[in-house]
Amino acid sequence: MAGEAKDDTFDVVIIGSGPGGYVTAIRASQLGLKVAIVERELLGGICLNWGCIPTKALLKSAEVYEQLDHLADYGLTVEKRGFDFAKVVERSRRVSAQLNAGVAFLMKKHKIEVVMGAARLEKGQAAPTVVVGDRKLTARHVILATGARARTIPAVGLEPDGEQVWTYREALVPKSVPKTLIVIGSGAIGIEFASFYRALGSDVTVIEALPRILPVEDEEVSKAAHKAFEKRGLKFRVPANVKRLTRSKSGVSVEIEAGGKSETLEAEVAIVAVGIVGNVEDMGLEALGVKIERSHVVTDRHGATGVPGLYAIGDVAGPPWLAHKASHEGVHCIERIAGLAPANIDSPIPGCTYSTPQIASVGLTEAQAKDQGRDPKVGRFPFRVNGKAIASGETDGFVKTVFDGKTGALIGAHMIGAEVTEMIQGYVIAMTCEATEAELQGAVFPHPTMSEAMHEASLDAYGKVLHV
Ligand code: NAD
Repeated sequence: MAGEAKDDTFDVVIIGSGPGGYVTAIRASQLGLKVAIVERELLGGICLNWGCIPTKALLKSAEVYEQLDHLADYGLTVEKRGFDFAKVVERSRRVSAQLNAGVAFLMKKHKIEVVMGAARLEKGQAAPTVVVGDRKLTARHVILATGARARTIPAVGLEPDGEQVWTYREALVPKSVPKTLIVIGSGAIGIEFASFYRALGSDVTVIEALPRILPVEDEEVSKAAHKAFEKRGLKFRVPANVKRLTRSKSGVSVEIEAGGKSETLEAEVAIVAVGIVGNVEDMGLEALGVKIERSHVVTDRHGATGVPGLYAIGDVAGPPWLAHKASHEGVHCIERIAGLAPANIDSPIPGCTYSTPQIASVGLTEAQAKDQGRDPKVGRFPFRVNGKAIASGETDGFVKTVFDGKTGALIGAHMIGAEVTEMIQGYVIAMTCEATEAELQGAVFPHPTMSEAMHEASLDAYGKVLHV
């Protein structure tokens, strides 16, 4: 058998090759460890193949297409506006394929053994043994980085069928643009697909159970996003409870209850984006005594599961379910295993939604800061008076900063507008370095840039705003 010729003893075996697993593998290899990574589907995991990356490719097509509506504002003309949908989707798949090959290259470069197949864990010596097909991989450390998948609610008909009811997987590779679309859930996944399909002409209605869309965002940002999306033709039912989704030949009917009234919405297709659940099944975790709560592996702050030699990082270890959080946790975990003093595990984690307009945030919302008794000092600055935004024709949105009223530390930042997902990192670094208003106000921001609004929002919190 092919497996018998291989040396199946490693320092570390990582299960799952998403941004949690593959980044951890590279770092482990850099630290001189002998590493294997097990993957049952595609290198790069959901993020590269079915999530972050291919959605960004689709959204770029949508953004460019929408810009064509505004060509006259820039003094430009185009003869015929249109799109070839198959090519839009094909480009997104090509982008994923390129990055998937990139991960394969990185694994080879770092001498990481890639083992394709589904992993199961059995009781082992220092750590559980990882069984993949006919191979038994033994290691001193095993790291679970198996990620998560779409949550479904079969009790009310919210489970995908690939035809009329989609999760993000089907929504990424559609054959055509549905004329009418219902998106259930207004988190990042729901809003990004709503934004994409609306841009390409779908009549889109988003249903959200909580009182406002993008409920994890600061309330002012949620409100502004709602208004901006409505301006683009998106419709919302907020708050609304889904009572039942039924399918017919022509599409779906979604019975909702909103404001004490029942209503039935019809569409060709529904996308279910009501959160995610961890991939914890069929690996033998229960038999090993791994603690699982609400579909996630319970760990300490450093990824240890309590089972000797077994760790969990990223989505499978719980929220926030973000690629960059997974990589951060993975690097922290392996550096600790190697005896180093890794970066702070509690570094602030930004969140981004790549709709039009974009939304980005880090740290506490104003309401959370108040709840924590931080006596917040809040600053705001709108892009409509920012020179670069005016020159670019991107004046929608604003920046909001939240400072601790006692210490002056930046404890939250919230942005909505063009390219804010690229700008939020300025505040992330500031928060990671525990910057206060003095540092942010004393920093020089390049002119003309939209980032000047970040400076102004910091000045505004202390009554020093310049351009309003
Ligand atoms: P989510 O939890 O962020 O949002 C789901 C939304 O659905 C919530 O607002 C919830 O209130 C609502 N909801 C739940 N049940 C409902 C029901 N029965 N009817 C109507 N609404 C209902 O989950 P998601 O958008 O599916 O995304 C999953 C995870 O992936 C999130 O943590 C998200 O941050 C992450 N993600 C991030 C990005 C990004 O960074 N751009 C993109 C996609 C996903």
